[in-house]
Amino acid sequence: MAKANSAPDASGMSLQGNTGPELGGTKNWLQLYFDTPLYVRILVALVIGLLLGVGLGPNASILEIFSKIILRLLGAIAPPLILIAVIHVLMTSEIPAKSAGRLIWLLLLNTTVAILIGLTVANAMKPGTWAGKAEASVSAPAKSEQVAKGPNPVEIIVNNIPKSLLGPLGDQQNVIGVIIIALAFGVALRKSKDRPIKVFHDLVGVAYDAILVVLHWVIQLVPIGVLCIVASVVGTKGFSPFKALGAFVVAVIVALLLQSLWYLIRIRILSWARPMYVLKGMRDSLVMAFSTASSTATMPVTYACLREKVGLREQSASLGSLVGANFNNDGTALYEAIAALFVAQLIGVELSLYQQVLVILTSIVASVGAAGIPEAGLVTMTLVFTAVGLPVEMIALLLTVDWFLDRCRTTINVLGDVNVACILDGKTKEVPTETAGVT
Ligand code: ASP
Repeated sequence: MAKANSAPDASGMSLQGNTGPELGGTKNWLQLYFDTPLYVRILVALVIGLLLGVGLGPNASILEIFSKIILRLLGAIAPPLILIAVIHVLMTSEIPAKSAGRLIWLLLLNTTVAILIGLTVANAMKPGTWAGKAEASVSAPAKSEQVAKGPNPVEIIVNNIPKSLLGPLGDQQNVIGVIIIALAFGVALRKSKDRPIKVFHDLVGVAYDAILVVLHWVIQLVPIGVLCIVASVVGTKGFSPFKALGAFVVAVIVALLLQSLWYLIRIRILSWARPMYVLKGMRDSLVMAFSTASSTATMPVTYACLREKVGLREQSASLGSLVGANFNNDGTALYEAIAALFVAQLIGVELSLYQQVLVILTSIVASVGAAGIPEAGLVTMTLVFTAVGLPVEMIALLLTVDWFLDRCRTTINVLGDVNVACILDGKTKEVPTETAGVT
């Protein structure tokens, strides 16, 4: 994935304010907009959207078009973002051959467990039905027949093999094709990385930064998308979806807590470190993950805490927090799976077992492809939704609570990296280490 080793604001961009254009030093309204943290803007948009919805009533549905446009832009940027980020990570990370297999197994296991926890909680709690199916159809187009039918499995596999090199880049439904191309080029280009001229390395770095800049531009529009969808939903359907959204928040938190439990139990059984000792040592990193909602920005702190406070070996710390972190987004995977089920329940559609398996597979891909930056999971969520035929417009509804849930899942993404690092460190502690110890 796409948490590459460069900071998300390597390009001078950040989501928590200061992201906008320079306007000659004069504070004007536009500058104020860009200077305000994203979650504040989203909250303000939510309130204005509510008021507009109440004021305009059904007329507010006209605003829905803006949220559709913004979501479409997010969807269009996903495939090239994944391609460049995966190539960038493969070119820049050093993975010792022996540990690579173990690392891949741990990453895959954790992500699969996260998604299964997400699906189980969503199936058990059914947060999307809390508002009642009738009112909850929101303004999304009815795609129930498409969802009910589902695509043919052979077709899916064949369609995911890229027909041409650039074809999948223009097709947001063919993300697996993009991953295949990214893996091939990422590995192939590793050799070229150290050529004296470093042309490919520089080129991919530049492309990655450029794509992040464009992504941040689109994300600047997210609050407007929130305002429009909230106004149109409130105007046409009243408050039922928000009641259901409360259940969604609870379901996500319950599932994330279960995932943390899985991590801590695994650390207790498979590593020398004790769970409470690890949590204490990782406090800085976990709090930073929660407050920045960016696991990439948190990455250096995670590494430092693992080495200096927990006392892991250099190799396990870097494999877990630098290499693993680039592919390991269990919180995001879990969130995408719950979101898909939640929306299906909200619009009154049953996802078959086969479709839920499709959710698992696409959530793995989507979480690997999600950059370690705020709101990145929502970009790749379009891929999960498209794969099972759910209306992507509904993602805009989730934006109203995403400023908070993003922080929660980012914290779990980082805890997942910590888990992998501890397990890779094994049952014996490195000696001697001044600061570390088992309590
Ligand atoms: N914000 C998350 C992270 O940095 C990614 C996501 O949006 O799920 O890990």
